[in-house]
Amino acid sequence: MYRQRPSTMRVPYRQFSEYIPVEIERLRPAGSYAALMKQRTHAIDGLVAQHGQIPEELLLLRACPTCRSTTYREELRKDHMVLVRCESCQLVYVNPAFDEAHYRAVYTSEEYQGIMKDLGITSHAYRVERFGQERVSLMAEHLDLPDGVSPAYLDVGCSTGFVVEAAARRGWRASGIDLNPSAIEFGRQRGLDLRHAALEDDRRAAESLDAVSLFDVLEHLLHPQAMLDAAIRLLRPGGILFLYVPNYDSASRLLLGADAHFIWPTHHLNYYTPSTLSELMRRSGLEVARVVTEGLDVADYVWYQREVAGQDVSAIETIADTLQFLINAGCYGKNLRLIARRPRAA
Ligand SMILES: [Zn+2]
Repeated sequence: MYRQRPSTMRVPYRQFSEYIPVEIERLRPAGSYAALMKQRTHAIDGLVAQHGQIPEELLLLRACPTCRSTTYREELRKDHMVLVRCESCQLVYVNPAFDEAHYRAVYTSEEYQGIMKDLGITSHAYRVERFGQERVSLMAEHLDLPDGVSPAYLDVGCSTGFVVEAAARRGWRASGIDLNPSAIEFGRQRGLDLRHAALEDDRRAAESLDAVSLFDVLEHLLHPQAMLDAAIRLLRPGGILFLYVPNYDSASRLLLGADAHFIWPTHHLNYYTPSTLSELMRRSGLEVARVVTEGLDVADYVWYQREVAGQDVSAIETIADTLQFLINAGCYGKNLRLIARRPRAA
């Protein structure tokens, strides 16, 4: 086991009465999750069929995306790729990795668009109700605007715009950008202010926004710091950044190891924990305001044991919600949420 510096992060006490279960059938309708599991290595299937592995010359060594250190040790292997742990800041990341052009091709591929369509569009309405509203409420708690002022908000990597829709319903000036054309088109048809654009091509004025979010974005990037810096530039002093990434130190990984589904090295290049993500915020000049986790760790464990390992898991299913609450409360849920604030001018 590695040794980690003791964290000074504070975990808020949580009440069981506030726990809202997730309806898995509505979130992952009609076999979409099983289909994702089957297609998850689409980005390398051709290479592996042809060469038996990923040819070495296609992979490039990376420095640690948080601290730039080049000292690391191997953490685990999966899907013909290697995850390493930075010896200096403890971040776990894919190393070596493909180049930018490869990932651009992966995310514009038909296979990936198909995965996102199944997961995102079919469950859009449920996502607005269950996740969009919750995320907007969480941001609202940390905004310090006078009454009656409508927050200016941008969701980067907005997918179908389920959070943008929840924010717009509350009267926010909410917009979103994403690189997935079918998701953007879907959201626009619902009347949302969405654009098919990358953050670096967005012409918004610096320091013009009260809130910016990056949901399920940072883990996909070769250079997460560049994206963060671009997002932070858009925030006014006192504005908030809301991040959402998989939690490497989650019950999912502790229970399933490398089989945890978010360990997806062909797509997920960076694996944060509450402490390594907090460290990234400090290095980016932001103040961490809140760190919480939610997750489907128990549901994913049950799914894996039943569908893949062929085990009887009915006893665990009966206590799934209680277990998941405990996991979330201890900050070991699979989805890590962090709100950070751009310091107000001194
Ligand atoms: Zn590092």
